[in-house]
Amino acid sequence: MKLMIMDVIEYTTSDGPGFRTSIYCSGCNHKCRECQNPQTWDIMHGHPVDVEDLFSKIRRNEMSNVTFSGGDPFYQPTAFTELAKMIKEKTDKTIWCYTGFTYEQIIKDAKMSKMLQYIDVLVDGEFIVELKDPDLLFRGSSNQRLIDVQASLKKGEVVLDSYNPYNLYEPQHEENKKIEKKELILI
Ligand code: SF4
Repeated sequence: MKLMIMDVIEYTTSDGPGFRTSIYCSGCNHKCRECQNPQTWDIMHGHPVDVEDLFSKIRRNEMSNVTFSGGDPFYQPTAFTELAKMIKEKTDKTIWCYTGFTYEQIIKDAKMSKMLQYIDVLVDGEFIVELKDPDLLFRGSSNQRLIDVQASLKKGEVVLDSYNPYNLYEPQHEENKKIEKKELILI
């Protein structure tokens, strides 16, 4: 199965906590005003890659977790679900996913909602320039949420993610545990 992507950036620290391999897909129909990546809107501006090849690249990078971004990955739900499933079944990496859809829209859609079972954190909602706030963590505008997807699926309602970058030693958070573990390995 193929995915249409613009780029893959390894070791990025701007799309979620710690080092991440970010997959920037093409294709987005939200057309948010002042979107920073309008070149990604047309899916044909990307190039096709095999899901297996993408997974091999992700797995080879032992240090990094994974982020799906774009564009909007939920415009290619079947291929991204296949990739997310491989990552979760064959590695211990976390997956963050950016989307212009809201969690509530995704959960109602049979195709899109399948991906949720493999996503750790969803950054949801369109970019709204009037709500732009440069101080927000990993988000552009204040309507967007960092959602703990697995807790939300379990509870049947949105549960916000509790990641706190200013306290890396908050022991109860899975993401922080992984960062601690990697830092210990590096030392
Ligand atoms: S969802 Fe993201 S990529 Fe799509 S138009 Fe909005 S800001 Fe741009």
